[in-house]
Amino acid sequence: MNPGSRKKALRYFFQKIIDPLGYKFSPDEEMVDFLLEQEVLLEQKHGIPYCPCQGLTKKREENMKIVCPCIPFHREHFDAIRRCWCGLYVHKDVTDPDALKQIPFNEIKRGQDVR
Ligand code: SF4
Repeated sequence: MNPGSRKKALRYFFQKIIDPLGYKFSPDEEMVDFLLEQEVLLEQKHGIPYCPCQGLTKKREENMKIVCPCIPFHREHFDAIRRCWCGLYVHKDVTDPDALKQIPFNEIKRGQDVR
């Protein structure tokens, strides 16, 4: 499958997963296209569409937590910042993804106001 077709296929499958979780693809189409392209490259290299912005480790069980969409493994964090870490997905009510801050989970745990 060529990269363009694979991007479309991933988008189709991911949509079915993220929708019931309350997320949608970011309205920033350029970024969505770029991130999906990176995932296709990672899938070609590793056989799995890993996250383009979280580093792989040597531990398989840890790596499985960053297979896209990784929302279920990081739900509390992503729900607090209303986006996934890369920004590929945002909460359904988000219209301006640039207004959302990428805040590490440990800062949220310390009680920082993220809105
Ligand atoms: S942070 Fe976003 S793009 Fe990265 S794996 Fe998780 S859901 Fe996918």
